[in-house]
Amino acid sequence: MLDVQKIRKDFPILQREVNGKPLIYFDNAATSQTPQQVIDAIVDYYSNYNANIHRGVHSLSQEATDAYEQARLKIQKHFNAKQSHEIIFTSGTTHSINLVANGFSSLLKKGDEIIVSALEHHSNIVPWQMLCERTGASLKVIPMNENGDLILSEYEALLNKNTKLVFVNHISNALGTINPIEYIIEKAHAIGAAVLVDGAQSCPHLKPDVQALDVDFYVCSAHKICGPTGVGMLYGKEEWLNKLPPYQGGGEMIAEVSFEKTTYAGLPHKFEAGTPNICGGIAFGAALDYMNAIGFENIAEYENELLEYGTAELQKIEGLKIYGTAKEKTSVISFNVGSIHPYDIGTILDKMGIAVRTGHHCAQPIMDFYKIPGTIRASFMFYNTKEEIDAFITALKKAIMMLS
Ligand SMILES: *Cc1c(COP(=O)(O)O)cnc(C)c1O
Repeated sequence: MLDVQKIRKDFPILQREVNGKPLIYFDNAATSQTPQQVIDAIVDYYSNYNANIHRGVHSLSQEATDAYEQARLKIQKHFNAKQSHEIIFTSGTTHSINLVANGFSSLLKKGDEIIVSALEHHSNIVPWQMLCERTGASLKVIPMNENGDLILSEYEALLNKNTKLVFVNHISNALGTINPIEYIIEKAHAIGAAVLVDGAQSCPHLKPDVQALDVDFYVCSAHKICGPTGVGMLYGKEEWLNKLPPYQGGGEMIAEVSFEKTTYAGLPHKFEAGTPNICGGIAFGAALDYMNAIGFENIAEYENELLEYGTAELQKIEGLKIYGTAKEKTSVISFNVGSIHPYDIGTILDKMGIAVRTGHHCAQPIMDFYKIPGTIRASFMFYNTKEEIDAFITALKKAIMMLS
């Protein structure tokens, strides 16, 4: 079991006050906080071996290159990718998805179909709409039910010989639903379609095994896994990454350049044009080390306790409605209270030092489904506590009194 008081000491930000009150940070689904171990990796890089990678013969450049490539190996191991060049460094989930969507421009034609789910983040809807506009392919949507589960029979009905791609998030950021991606992947593969899974919300809570899943592409952002912003990864099966054309042209992604013709570098460099976020990549590796040392089974078990406790306490509040009650969900609770606007509650909670997210959570189609403008979302990580949930409930009750 995990020692939360010991863990909390690793996070300097958890010691600060906001508006004169101890910070209670429940906006983890938007970005997680950073432990000292990761901050140290960042400081160490800029203090001791900041240099451009891959091109230098000098020692600093080689140290930086080694550390960066070491981080790629850590990511490979973490996700159990078969080969390290199947891990592409990107600036985050959004970049990774756009890279794949752009690559498929040359592989799709009019009449082809792409399936997304009703539970997607905007970053997993808009790039596909743009891809459809470019290629004449059409977008189909797996509908959801009132609990926030995808309706799998409808998914199967959508699959046909024109389906080329299926895109689904592993866990919904707005509702916390854990989608049955094994099943979704198996059905898509049975008709020859490729599958991209958006792991932005799953990677903080579980450890995906891309080979066991047999997934074609898997993407995530470091900043939701205790790492820094501006860095993330794309896992792609080698055969798929070889099929996709480069996304951006520039330095580092070429083999040879002349004005007549350029030949591209092999994987992973083909997709890594320009100077990357070197320090970010190294810190991403440090963040995975940190979380693996705690252990993802311990993390999941503890966060489930927080979810159950928080859900039970919130349900005691009159007029409070929780959106997203899937059986399989993570520590994300989206709710509204009567007709009070989420923004008003969020503002009062902030005055009491409590950070929650209010709004549509970049998932407007879900809000449209429930016919609401948005929700209040409290999302927990392994460094949160039941005592914080108690303080949050007390503050929430005060806010409701003030607003009704
Ligand atoms: C946060 C999030 C994204 C976008 O991630 P960025 O780091 O902003 O690129 C995409 N999908 C889901 C499910 C998310 O939670």
